[in-house]
Amino acid sequence: MKKSRLLFLGPPGAGKGTQAERICGSAGLLHLSTGDLLRAEVAAETDLGKSAAAVMQKGELVSDELVLAIVESSLVKTSKGWILDGFPRTVSQAISLEKLLEKLNQQIEAVISLELNDDLLLERLLLRGRSDDNEDVIRHRIEVYKNKTAPLIDHYNKQDLLKSVQADGTIDAITDRIESILS
Ligand code: ADP
Repeated sequence: MKKSRLLFLGPPGAGKGTQAERICGSAGLLHLSTGDLLRAEVAAETDLGKSAAAVMQKGELVSDELVLAIVESSLVKTSKGWILDGFPRTVSQAISLEKLLEKLNQQIEAVISLELNDDLLLERLLLRGRSDDNEDVIRHRIEVYKNKTAPLIDHYNKQDLLKSVQADGTIDAITDRIESILS
């Protein structure tokens, strides 16, 4: 059977959101992007959004409690498969996720790690031009990724879940690489 509970891991600019959207569309999975969900809270000026906004603008990580609450409320509502994009971002978030999934009787089936060098990441993010995409903040987000998120590669490799994908080339080519891993 096709894998349908997936994590997308990778530095900012690697294309997690774009690829997760495409794979979810073709496979009927729920796309849960913590970045998108947080930006929706910021736009709606909720209490949660207000406490997240300044942290996001600096390229720092929002607190574990906030993101965990968002992920939990989305996962309990669905019986479909899903792709988590942008979560977990730290080993402690990964452990919280494992506990949550145990409670929900669900399991991660694969972790897709998108890999791209820093020069290309910077180039793509400067083109994207989101409000937290200026050069200093981008460099900081890449550092935060290396220090806090990249250790998850080893974490999931040890669990035999990790699948690395080269994230250069056309959007279609990268989607094909991911599809072939999941089938
Ligand atoms: P990118 O892929 O460019 O890093 P995202 O849209 O995934 O962008 O995230 C944007 C911002 O949202 C992050 O820089 C961070 O402040 C916050 N964020 C998203 N997911 C998490 C998370 N799991 N834990 C903490 N903060 C998060």
